[in-house]
Amino acid sequence: MTNMLACPSCGLDKTESIVHRGSYILRCAACGEMIVATSFMAMLDSDHQCSAFIDPGPGKRPSPEMLVARGPFRQIATAISAAASDGTLIRLISDVRD
Ligand SMILES: [Zn+2]
Repeated sequence: MTNMLACPSCGLDKTESIVHRGSYILRCAACGEMIVATSFMAMLDSDHQCSAFIDPGPGKRPSPEMLVARGPFRQIATAISAAASDGTLIRLISDVRD
């Protein structure tokens, strides 16, 4: 979940991680352009700590009550899949702990 790609539309390199149905998408936080999509399944073998929220829209911070699941990715993947299965956009936010 690194943010290394610049948006082809506006050039900003601030991206948000989104799950939409079976896809993992990077979305520009400024203009909402969907940048890269890979399979959600490619993400499953990960212990990366993250929080999943119902997506509030590009550049917006999800509120705590929008939380879907939080924990190691492989443990919350099922909950994320279930929440995303009806087309709801799910925002993934890394929980970085030192
Ligand atoms: Zn953009």
